[in-house]
Amino acid sequence: MKLSELHNGESAVIVKVSGHGGFRKRIMEMGFVRGRKVTSVIDAPLNDPIKYTIMGYDVLLRRSEAQLIEVLPEEEANAMLSAEDAKAPNFFACTDCDSCGLSCNYKRTKTTQRNIINIAFVGNPNSGKTSLFNALSGGHEHVGNYSGVTVDVKTGHFNYKGYHFNITDLPGTYSLSAYSPEEVFVRRNLLESMPDVIVNVVVASNLERNLYLTTELIDLSQRVVVALNMYDELEATGAKLDYENLGSMIGIPMVPTIAKTGKGLDKLLDTIIEMFEGDNKSARHVHINYGTVLEPEISLLADILHESEDFPQQFPARYWAIKMIENDKEVHNLLKDSKSYEKLKQQAEISSEKIIKQLDIDAETAISDAKYGFISGALHETFTEGKKEANKRTRKLDKLIVNKWLGFPLFILLMWLMFSVTFWLGAYPQDWIAAGFDALGNLFNGIIPEGAWRSLVVDGIIGGVGAVAEFLPNIILLYMFISLMEDSGYMSRAAFLMDKMMHGMGLHGKSFIPMIMGFGCNVPAIMATRSIESKSSRLITILVVPFMSCSARLPIYLLLAGAFFPKYAATVMICLYLLGIIVAVLTAKLLRLTAFKQDETPFVMELPPYRWPTLRATLKHIWEKCYQYIKKIGTVILLASVIIWVLSYYPHTDISETELAKTEEISEAEANEIQYENSCLGMIGKFVAPVMSPMGFDWKISVAVLSSIPAKEIVVSTLGVLYASEEDDLGDAIQKSGDLTTSSALALMVFMLLFFPCIATIGAVASETKKIKWAFFSVFYNTAVAWVLAYVTYLIANLF
Ligand code: GDP
Ligand code: MG
Repeated sequence: MKLSELHNGESAVIVKVSGHGGFRKRIMEMGFVRGRKVTSVIDAPLNDPIKYTIMGYDVLLRRSEAQLIEVLPEEEANAMLSAEDAKAPNFFACTDCDSCGLSCNYKRTKTTQRNIINIAFVGNPNSGKTSLFNALSGGHEHVGNYSGVTVDVKTGHFNYKGYHFNITDLPGTYSLSAYSPEEVFVRRNLLESMPDVIVNVVVASNLERNLYLTTELIDLSQRVVVALNMYDELEATGAKLDYENLGSMIGIPMVPTIAKTGKGLDKLLDTIIEMFEGDNKSARHVHINYGTVLEPEISLLADILHESEDFPQQFPARYWAIKMIENDKEVHNLLKDSKSYEKLKQQAEISSEKIIKQLDIDAETAISDAKYGFISGALHETFTEGKKEANKRTRKLDKLIVNKWLGFPLFILLMWLMFSVTFWLGAYPQDWIAAGFDALGNLFNGIIPEGAWRSLVVDGIIGGVGAVAEFLPNIILLYMFISLMEDSGYMSRAAFLMDKMMHGMGLHGKSFIPMIMGFGCNVPAIMATRSIESKSSRLITILVVPFMSCSARLPIYLLLAGAFFPKYAATVMICLYLLGIIVAVLTAKLLRLTAFKQDETPFVMELPPYRWPTLRATLKHIWEKCYQYIKKIGTVILLASVIIWVLSYYPHTDISETELAKTEEISEAEANEIQYENSCLGMIGKFVAPVMSPMGFDWKISVAVLSSIPAKEIVVSTLGVLYASEEDDLGDAIQKSGDLTTSSALALMVFMLLFFPCIATIGAVASETKKIKWAFFSVFYNTAVAWVLAYVTYLIANLF
């Protein structure tokens, strides 16, 4: 029977997982191994994906993936499997450290007289790494984009009992293989930065799956301390865990923690110090026993590596041997330069074939099975399940939140709430900020005598920066919602609801989250695509995110729609957002049909339990975003404002000297126009104007469009500089000038929606895809689409 045939509420036992290597590996890391019980819980409102429960947590599979998993009804399976089920922890203590590598860390006693301890947090997504990090580091942290792959790595530091701790918060992973960018990144980071102690953050209430990553760390034979985080959740179910015994058994000390309240942190730090000093009683070096078939093959490969001794010494030969048997692509790369690589490769192939022949399963499956066997053996002796159902609240809430009938209305309601609150409520503080900048401008008008300096400060800096700073409240509110949805667990439900639709456009349920975030700012949205394992889905998502109308484009719509369509401003804006979405969908489809025909990685995704977001975490997220925005205002936007001012002020025309001024009285707007027309900005505008003229844009509008390249908000400040007027507000001034008609104003909004994303976004595309080619693609494709659609809009609008 296939897993997909299970009805909601039914359970069965897994007997076999088929499908290609990547799928099997991933699904095994998530706990889908032979002999495990799995329950079908609920189908998504659109029938696909399906939520299953396995090993006490929830996971989503698409129907097509569930078809690849063979199951048997419980009774039948139990009869068949009980014979093979060995309930003893399957490991052996390492007695001879030389046999497993020169790098065996347990052999090493304290060698340096230093008191600086470098620690790294490794753990599953949502295990509480960041919460622990924040609780420990206090305010001393630094978010950095590390070279190579841009994955956010936070580093922080603090002092404790005379030691200086440097901590690194790594991205969440389920294992350390090479199937997702995070996994590759975490492993490479551990390899390169060699932390003194690895802190493995484990969800205590979901030990079985979380310890899978621990088994990978055991293979690495590094100094590890396990933080049994969310211990409160374990205790709430009434479960008992003899963690001291478990720790001694697997040779890794374990410390219960509650990151949310800070409980257990001192004990954790004390244990880290013990590990660092080499005097922890539980710590010892064990090897997971991979069984009579695999072990000889592992030894064979390890021996080949020892012959040349030129493998990366940070990890033991045994580790590299295991990964070679698993045929890990990244490890192939890392070992390529070894003298024994060719021999190693050949032997690995022979070993793999031998394993398949003898065990009737491939090496990867055999290794995962052994790892889970090791875990269940260890837990069998130390863990007693609780009486109370874990995650009861989540199960009940999910019945409501992803309900067939309620799911979508609730989702749309939340999205609507998010946007209306962001923009309506945000309008009030926006006015205050605007008023503040006006007052500041007036103040300097009074202080600085008329001339270039006054113009620079008032029109250039205060005007330019002010126009952008106004949107800070909107950003705060938008990120408040996004952060609440992420921390509470709702975001994953959104992916669950949306997957079928996203799949229709060739994407992934997880693509939906970055796309929604794109409405805030494209840069973090593009970074958020990291959680998408599928390379092609991720790339397509990155390329379509810039069509999601970010909040920087909003000021342009507010200005133009407000002035040209006062009665229908909201409708016009909704249509623009929709147009962006439509273009994104069509682009995704187009890319899926041409450049990326096949989606290579499975959907499998964990559905975390609902948790109350903490005020602290929410405030922190908001602050991080605010800080980024303020930094952008203080740097890029300030610089761009000054540059635009310089370009618009020089060469300077003395209005009173012009012929026109001698014959008649001229208004301020006319004076500005004369000034700009002769300035550098005017010249640039006139240069590109011919390309823009089909849409009814003259040189001034062309200048404004070009000024959006550093950041889209700058369009408004440029228009502010170009159409400055004492009597009218900016919108009216533009309208009165007659430079834009209703049709060309509409075309301009469409153009600004689709036109090439800002420099920061282009940078994000380049660094996230690691290929400059995609950044160029983004620039050219988006500009072409913008031009064509703006032109069509102009033509259609002219018909009315
Ligand atoms: P990360 O993905 O590993 O960085 O996990 P986070 O630190 O973002 O935490 C995920 C969620 O778990 C957040 O909603 C936290 O508030 C919550 N959380 C973290 N630690 C604990 C804990 O010890 N107990 C409980 N009940 N919740 C926690
Ligand atoms: Mg985190």
